[in-house]
Amino acid sequence: MTTRNEPATLAAAQGLMGQLVAWRRDLHRHPELAFQEHRTAGIVAASLAQLGLEVQTGVGQTGVVGILEGSRPGPTVLLRFDMDALPIFEETGLSFASLTEGKMHACGHDAHTAIGLGVATLLARRQENLPGRVKFMFQPAEEIASGARAMIADGVLENPAPQAAFGLHVWSLWPVGHGVVKDGPLWASADKFEIEIVGRGAHGALPHQGVDAIVVAAYAVAQLQTVASRGIDPLAPAVLTIGEIAGGSAFNVIAERVTLGGTLRTFDHAVRQQVIERMHAVLGGVCAAFGASYTLEVTFHAPPLVNDPDAAEYVRRVASEVLGPDAVADGPMLTVAEDMAEVLNRVPGCFLVLGAQPGSNGQPEPHHSPRFDIDEQAMPLGVAILAGVAEEYLRVNSG
Ligand SMILES: [Zn+2]
Ligand SMILES: [Zn+2]
Repeated sequence: MTTRNEPATLAAAQGLMGQLVAWRRDLHRHPELAFQEHRTAGIVAASLAQLGLEVQTGVGQTGVVGILEGSRPGPTVLLRFDMDALPIFEETGLSFASLTEGKMHACGHDAHTAIGLGVATLLARRQENLPGRVKFMFQPAEEIASGARAMIADGVLENPAPQAAFGLHVWSLWPVGHGVVKDGPLWASADKFEIEIVGRGAHGALPHQGVDAIVVAAYAVAQLQTVASRGIDPLAPAVLTIGEIAGGSAFNVIAERVTLGGTLRTFDHAVRQQVIERMHAVLGGVCAAFGASYTLEVTFHAPPLVNDPDAAEYVRRVASEVLGPDAVADGPMLTVAEDMAEVLNRVPGCFLVLGAQPGSNGQPEPHHSPRFDIDEQAMPLGVAILAGVAEEYLRVNSG
């Protein structure tokens, strides 16, 4: 008898440390923005092909799919990693800092890509004992919440369709060795909305001849704050933020139009719809009171990221073995968003958040900071956990 995930042990993953660091630092030097990940995708595709995987490129523009076929029948498990960088001027001063001004891996997707290649390396060695197959999804354009949808539109969830999906995010604000595995909602939806309020322009001295869109907008902004505070179950978090407002052209003119822009964050599909319905009700009521009209346009970016409890149990078990049972927590929920949610909306699965705080002194830099960095020791932990989860899932579900 061998122990369950013995071959995908932490020791084996740590044996890949040199390679993981080399991959991550090379990608870090050469960051590529959403849907421009040509060099990155080339490295991923070549590495997967070298490991003997069946590789498809150009899936969702710059996405790469690799299939590791096991040695006997069984289910398909999908592992997803994102590859894109951000339009940020790097200020880390690292020896392997970005060579492209204005582009930076400031979210850790360089580490995710390296972890994905590490998992493929470990599991390829285990191919003989692997039932079913592992489908690797290397995704572009996570930062604009478009890459997952693009790959899904190009069929990443078909032929073969996965029965479960797993992924991870490193987290610079939590110590290395800490993991979060949560049942149900983990990260929020992120939607963008634009409102236009249309009144009637007039002379600033004759307000009764116009409909003042600025006054209507002021009421609308204030009343929209009641959508989350009065309209939604207080136990179902919702954020409605208006981040932009623009209107008027002169000090002595009643403004005819005001535009407002903002973002919505929710953890539940029904709450998301409810917030939008309440917004219409508030805008309709306020505008009717003044004789103005409005339009509301909501652009859905990423849905709420919701983990399947059964899938989360696999991650919790393996992460507890790799990190130690006390190092695995079940929260907190965060109002950040992640387009892995598009996959988890369609396939039951679980997204792990893995501590990667660099150094021990000073305040760690948050994600998307120009001084963002991670501790690379988190990478073999991520490899061991995801390789172990894939193996465990396939073993348990191959009958
Ligand atoms: Zn990010
Ligand atoms: Zn990210």
